[in-house]
Amino acid sequence: MEPGAAYPVLLSPLQVGHLRLRNRVVMGSMHTKLEDRRGDLPKLTAFYTERARGGVAMIVTGGFAPTWRGWLTPFSSTMATTRMADAHSAMTDAVHSEGSAILLQLLHAGRYGYHPLSQAPSGKKSPITPFRPSRMSEDAVRRTVESFVRAAELAKRAGYDGVEVMGSEGYLINQFLAARTNDREDSWGGTPEKRRRFPTEIVRRMRERLGEDFLIQYRISLIDLVEDAQSWDETAALARELEKVGVSLFNTGIGWHEARIPTIVTSVPRAAFVDLTARLRREVSLPVIASNRINRPETAEEILQRGDADLVAMARPLLADAAFVAKAGSGREREIVTCIACNQACLDNTFANKPVSCMLNPRAGRETELVLGPARTIKRVAVVGAGPAGLAAAVELAGRGHRPELFEASGSLGGQFRLAARIPGKEEFRGTLQYYEHMLALREVPVHLNCRVTATELAGFDEVVVATGVTPRVPEIPGLERPEVVTYQELLEGTAIAGARVAVIGAGGIGFDVSEFLLHDSDETLAHWRARWGVADPAVHRGGLTQKAPQEPRRTVYLLQRTPGALGKGLGKTTGWVHRMTLRDSGVEMIGGVEYLGVDEDGLHISLASTDPQNPERTERTLAVDTVVLCAGQESVRDLAEDSAVKIPVHTIGGAERAGELDAVRAIRQATELAARI
Ligand code: FAD
Ligand code: NAP
Ligand code: SF4
Repeated sequence: MEPGAAYPVLLSPLQVGHLRLRNRVVMGSMHTKLEDRRGDLPKLTAFYTERARGGVAMIVTGGFAPTWRGWLTPFSSTMATTRMADAHSAMTDAVHSEGSAILLQLLHAGRYGYHPLSQAPSGKKSPITPFRPSRMSEDAVRRTVESFVRAAELAKRAGYDGVEVMGSEGYLINQFLAARTNDREDSWGGTPEKRRRFPTEIVRRMRERLGEDFLIQYRISLIDLVEDAQSWDETAALARELEKVGVSLFNTGIGWHEARIPTIVTSVPRAAFVDLTARLRREVSLPVIASNRINRPETAEEILQRGDADLVAMARPLLADAAFVAKAGSGREREIVTCIACNQACLDNTFANKPVSCMLNPRAGRETELVLGPARTIKRVAVVGAGPAGLAAAVELAGRGHRPELFEASGSLGGQFRLAARIPGKEEFRGTLQYYEHMLALREVPVHLNCRVTATELAGFDEVVVATGVTPRVPEIPGLERPEVVTYQELLEGTAIAGARVAVIGAGGIGFDVSEFLLHDSDETLAHWRARWGVADPAVHRGGLTQKAPQEPRRTVYLLQRTPGALGKGLGKTTGWVHRMTLRDSGVEMIGGVEYLGVDEDGLHISLASTDPQNPERTERTLAVDTVVLCAGQESVRDLAEDSAVKIPVHTIGGAERAGELDAVRAIRQATELAARI
């Protein structure tokens, strides 16, 4: 088969308005934080240029507010003056010279603005921001419409091929469209027709002022996933009206940010919402873009071949691999670093006000700083341990021309990450291990499994990378030697089996994951996932919400921690709530402020901090469980790192370097940075 022949539609060109796109891949908007300061524009240019060189047809920038009242955070990215526009010209030129088109996303945060000057159709505060917006006067509404049009004119001046009008995810335009957030009785609210006036006015005026050779892409919310939201009929009517007033193509959005249904995390099935894109495509005669949890070329091709969409938008997958399209087009799809939808180094960073990157590609957003060029002096490097740190080090060292060899004590690759891949809803993690396995073979890295390395095995190497990782911590609690006490590693590897009633000691990421492993299997079908989360057809239930199906957990599970207060506070900002809700829905009792007294034939004995200030006495309780699983953190494996018999330079990375606050993001980042230095 010819390279790329597997994706005939994905790789075929498409005429959209005045533009001929070279294929069907659109890079969806991502706020990287490099947009916010003019001084960072060269870095943003490098970020986009690398993706354009990697073959995407069209890039949508992160969101730019058309006016400061629409900022996401104080002083965040704005497009409101000619000076701001002119600063973007070098960036649009650079992207064009690599053959991609580029659109500026116009995003007015409305009540999602994280600042005291936010404005919205009504004065209702959002549940996810501390600031109450001021209610817009009619004059303010008209001025805001004009600010969108003016920002589009500035985008044209800056060399953009068009704009994306952000009409989904619960931002200002979406707030106008839903009765939930628009209680106005003037000409901008009161009926669905009047609520639609805000976006249709924006687009109508943009088209009038900007002419035909400018793309207006509208991101439409297909399913709001909140109460008092739009019905499908209203969404379809909006699309038809927008087509009439001058939209060129539709991108699609799923769910408001305040929705309590996961829409992009790893446990959401791939392409879970694409049936709605197909439905929109039947309502309009314009091209339609599918989005959300599309991360592989095969998935994208299937969507296009079925006729569900004309293009696909991928955002995080292009953080993970800038050359996604080029690899798909040259028969190298197994070399694609596939986004696992973990959010750990991208969206979670955004919420922590840090620049966006990627767990699997630490170069993302750091293209000008983290450079993996050819090695000047080729070295023989022993890489010890094949967890994420060792795998990434070996692959990147080989990529630079060094001669690494990888040693692993167990019989398989992956370390702790291999256990993560056994958790229901984390199936994507398997793809990462397959990628590393493929790259080791492709770069001809010798791999020695079942080989526990000591100083003796290092003879003949120039340097050693110690990536020996971590081992589960066994705390000092009486009775832990009993057979019903197991580590998470034994449970997940299948060398131990849990009974019907289980206590999990430790409520970090692993305690939560292990609880899910104990409770349920992966969702068998998309219908099963929808039922579990109460996702309905928005044509039947306004907003697409219905009752969740009751869960039938496999076991009774208690999840425990010593720290008082709510459990799961340390979990990812954008994913933690999904895990907490899953356990709550399955009836898990989550207990903080625990002291572990011991395990015996009656179960696990604990004492609990008092919640009554009048009576500070602790109370004792016995959890009648038949299994206790230890998820009490980890300790570094450092025997090789500290072995004085090793006489070559030693680099210690990942869990071997430090077990505290370890995750795969740090392990892979340290490995990549080290590989760039050796
Ligand atoms: P490890 O993964 O511990 O790998 C070390 C390897 O070295 C092992 O394979 C070991 O056998 C080998 N080794 C040790 N000594 C020697 C020796 N002397 N010779 C040869 N080989 C040796 N992290 C996230 O970021 N996100 C998640 O969602 C996530 N989920 C998780 C879920 C579970 C259930 C678990 C268990 C972990 C999860 N993690 C997650 C944590 C993540 O897997 C670890 O942070 C990561 O694997 C650490 O990487 P590492 O390479 O430093 O060490
Ligand atoms: P962790 O987050 O450090 O949690 C360890 C848990 O064990 C805590 O609940 C801690 O709570 C408890 N603990 C610590 N020492 C103890 C002791 N001596 N006795 C009893 N309990 C003790 O570590 P982890 O859950 O093992 O996870 C390891 C790493 O993997 C984490 O850093 C995490 O980032 C990563 N991970 C991430 C995800 C994800 O979805 N992003 C999922 C899994 C793992 P108390 O001290 O309050 O008891
Ligand atoms: Fe995807 Fe995770 Fe990378 Fe974000 S950090 S792009 S979710 S793999």
